[in-house]
Amino acid sequence: MAKIVTKAWVEADDCTACEACVAVAPEAMEMDNDVAKVISNDAEFLKAHSEEIIQAAEECPCEAIKYESA
Ligand code: SF4
Repeated sequence: MAKIVTKAWVEADDCTACEACVAVAPEAMEMDNDVAKVISNDAEFLKAHSEEIIQAAEECPCEAIKYESA
């Protein structure tokens, strides 16, 4: 079964604002000035966007996107 993301965040100090995550997961990630962020940490939102968030984390060249999953 696919993983369900229960919590997701960006380690701001590790983010270089390359915007790769926004390109991969435009419905889950957004830029907030010079740092990427997960658009919402609402449980339903994370569940609905789990696949994109995991893909964004895999694509991030700085390993700045962290998540917990069930
Ligand atoms: S892919 Fe990683 S380094 Fe690039 S903007 Fe997103 S979180 Fe930041």
